[in-house]
Amino acid sequence: MAAQNPIITPAAVEQVEAPISLAPIRKIFDVCRAMSLWPMTFGLACCAIEMMAVGMARFDIARFGAEVFRPSPRQSDLMIVAGTVSRKMAPAVVRLYEQMPGPKYVIALGNCAISGGPFKFEGQYGIIEGVDTLIPVDVYVPGCPPRPEALLEGLFKIQEKMTGRRWWPLPASPEGDAV
Ligand code: SF4
Repeated sequence: MAAQNPIITPAAVEQVEAPISLAPIRKIFDVCRAMSLWPMTFGLACCAIEMMAVGMARFDIARFGAEVFRPSPRQSDLMIVAGTVSRKMAPAVVRLYEQMPGPKYVIALGNCAISGGPFKFEGQYGIIEGVDTLIPVDVYVPGCPPRPEALLEGLFKIQEKMTGRRWWPLPASPEGDAV
């Protein structure tokens, strides 16, 4: 009779078969993804100028890990819908969203993307009144246009949604207190 391997005892087998919790590893992955979001290079109207401003030195979105704007939806996990969504553009927006790999996130930047903005009036026929009628939106950043700081706040909200906590200090009020 072959000698039994003294290392592989029933207790050792039981230990190996015990369920391993992947939660801590998932949390690490979530933080890594949140700190390296890749937005899609994608602008629709004037709000896109503000989006471009956050990529420049003054607002510097690189400080928060999201400076790698990708020219392809297949390499992106964040869509910033920056501007007016016309009916003609709507199918392209949906197609681009569908081509992004999951998990993926969407920011509606500006009043046009949120609700049609100044182009929402009786009788209008060419504008989508809210991009969330086409694709799911995670964060809404209002304004016409919103300030670049507001877009950064939107990014922080996405990071918070991904990791369950806020990572950056709250902006200070004019009196110097955190708001
Ligand atoms: S919300 Fe205002 S600034 Fe932004 S795309 Fe619409 S009209 Fe332009």
